[in-house]
Amino acid sequence: MTNDKHMLDYIPVNEPLLYGNEKKYLNQCIDTGWISSEGPFIKQFEEQFAARVGRKYGIAVSNGSVALDAAVLALGIGAGDEVILPTFTIISCAAAIVRAGAIPVVVDCDSHTWNMDVSQIEAKITPKTKAIMVVHIYGLPVDMEPILALAAKYKLQIIEDAAEMHGQTYKNRPCGSFGNISTVSFYPNKHITTGEGGMILTDDDRLAERCCSLRNLCFQPQQRFIHEELGWNLRMSNIQAALGVAQLERLDEFIARKRRMGQRYTELLSDIPGLQLPIPQTDYADNIYWVYALVLKDEVPFDAKEAMRRLHHHQVGSRPFFWSMHEQPVFHKMGLFAKESHPVSENIARRGFYIPSGIALTDEQMERVVEVVKEILRSP
Ligand SMILES: *Cc1c(COP(=O)(O)O)cnc(C)c1O
Repeated sequence: MTNDKHMLDYIPVNEPLLYGNEKKYLNQCIDTGWISSEGPFIKQFEEQFAARVGRKYGIAVSNGSVALDAAVLALGIGAGDEVILPTFTIISCAAAIVRAGAIPVVVDCDSHTWNMDVSQIEAKITPKTKAIMVVHIYGLPVDMEPILALAAKYKLQIIEDAAEMHGQTYKNRPCGSFGNISTVSFYPNKHITTGEGGMILTDDDRLAERCCSLRNLCFQPQQRFIHEELGWNLRMSNIQAALGVAQLERLDEFIARKRRMGQRYTELLSDIPGLQLPIPQTDYADNIYWVYALVLKDEVPFDAKEAMRRLHHHQVGSRPFFWSMHEQPVFHKMGLFAKESHPVSENIARRGFYIPSGIALTDEQMERVVEVVKEILRSP
């Protein structure tokens, strides 16, 4: 703790940086009156983001969760179909499958990368399996090659949730380029933000058209108010896209900063016993540290809930890890995942949390976070 002033400032778990062309582009929206989804920033943001991940189409939507909903429906996944996904993920992934009437089938995660354990997938494939939903978690991409091989062997679709991976690559190929359909989110805790927002990415003309239609109430171009299918209003506004264009200009800078932050945290935390830190790299990627995540080792006599309570008491924000899909009351009530156990995910859900890792965090704040982490681990 450096001085009294800092003692008083709460360090939030995330804060975005909006110091580039955001204001300028937002003013253009107001000056021109283009505030709905018809404005020019939408197309610009879609084209620029799609180009960035090497995709033919980007379809901007209102958030990353509905991007997954649309992806599942566009692929024609429905009643009786099975989709394999990690149990350690956000509810949006499983919800999209369940809402489509399909069955989520989960695998455990790897204890070092926290990504889905790729070696468990093949045993879960049945004649009903239609797709694998890949979710890159916290900073490292999923090992894609074995999954692409399985998809080819069993003729499965891939849905790639790259919400946490803007700017990340797998063997030098951009995350967001691996799915038949890939999705991203632009919530303020993601690497770039539009406030709320998301995007669907694909190279397939027909899927792109399906997603555009689902986004816009399935209006038909020739006979607007006659509907063959039900869609939603998932449109992003020009105001959000204006933010997105400005943020995208800074992506490389943000990623470089995130990586430096991750390395700095690792240096400062590496000699503290009792903590499992994120691994800096795998054979196929350098960690992008979407969040800086910690897992309490078994020797620590309390859990993540208690650690977060203590951090909060010392004015440091934190968030728990995802709670596994197979332990969700809402799914148990639907008769899903009865008596399933996935021990790695169960353990990290109880012993994992992440510390302030937003792009606006200063070096000074990081040092204070580390002091507080040390402090809370000292007392039993
Ligand atoms: C944030 C996130 C989402 C959901 O995005 P929203 O824009 O908040 O709806 C989906 N998947 C993953 C992996 C995420 O991190």
